Amino acid sequence: MYDVVIVGGGPAGFTAALYAARAKLDTLLIEKMVSGGQMATTYVMENYPGFAEPISGPDLALRMEKQARRFGAQVLNDTVVDLQLDKVKKEIKTTKDILYSKTVILCMGAKPRELGCPGEKELKGSGVSYCATCDGAFFKDRIVAVVGGGDTAAEDALYLTRFCPKVYLIHRRDSLRATKVLQEAVFSNDKIEVVWDSVVEEIHGRFDVEGIKVKNVKTDESRKIEAEGVFVAIGVVPNTELVKGKVELNQAGYIITDDSMQTNIFGVYAAGDIREKVLRQVITAASDGAVAAYMAERYIVENRW
Ligand code: NAP
Repeated sequence: MYDVVIVGGGPAGFTAALYAARAKLDTLLIEKMVSGGQMATTYVMENYPGFAEPISGPDLALRMEKQARRFGAQVLNDTVVDLQLDKVKKEIKTTKDILYSKTVILCMGAKPRELGCPGEKELKGSGVSYCATCDGAFFKDRIVAVVGGGDTAAEDALYLTRFCPKVYLIHRRDSLRATKVLQEAVFSNDKIEVVWDSVVEEIHGRFDVEGIKVKNVKTDESRKIEAEGVFVAIGVVPNTELVKGKVELNQAGYIITDDSMQTNIFGVYAAGDIREKVLRQVITAASDGAVAAYMAERYIVENRW
């Protein structure tokens, strides 16, 4: 039986693994894909303390994994398919095995929200993307559109100007939600045209994206924008399918914790983007992971395990 099983290998998970392993707890982190979570698809990070020069998301993710492993954390690449959390001995079922642990830290993060308009599903991977960093280079010399008004949309639009002659930024309101520094960069970039007060009604294309129909929500007028790529950046939804009905969630589906990352189940903690919180950043995910691991250690000690 493990002391701590961490589900999810983003910054929250790897920081929890680092702290738990360094506290000499028998620690296993389970990640179904590549290490880093959403961070792995971030081209540059300029707001993680300690890196005066920007660092790439994948690079930071690898460093976090290496650091956790150095203290003895084990990493398993597998998918968790079920969790039994309400017993003292927690059960973690993966595609290959059933594992047991004294504590579980849920760090499954969040995934991109979908637009839900006609054409989106059909053209996913054929011009519709949720990751500019991953797919941007495929759109060299093509006109593309980014949908959204937050930090991700602004960063994606700026990133895409490296490859694309023109980037439309389609936003449903008349002001961006993105931080000022990103807004200024967007407004001063000649390649970006912001399409204000507009929502995407439909994405056109037979085999690949050929254009987008957008509607101005103030005038009700629709227009077609010629674009060969659509990058959807309208926020995220939590990856809580696995724990629905097992731990307490808020209305938006995020796990509710207290300041100690404690969920409503003893011995079960949540950290990072998956939990209800005000600021979803790599630094706050890492902080959550550290607190969760510390609390898991205290739980084990207090229960004289
Ligand atoms: P976000 O901040 O939630 O912004 C989502 C944007 O999409 C908003 O502008 C929202 O419009 C729009 N939107 C939401 N649903 C929509 C829909 N159905 N149709 C059209 N537009 C829709 O999400 P995010 O930009 O992905 O950022 C998520 C978190 O990561 C934030 O906390 C952000 O600060 C952080 N982040 C930080 C950095 C950085 O620090 N460098 C980079 C990326 C992300 P409204 O504005 O009208 O609500």
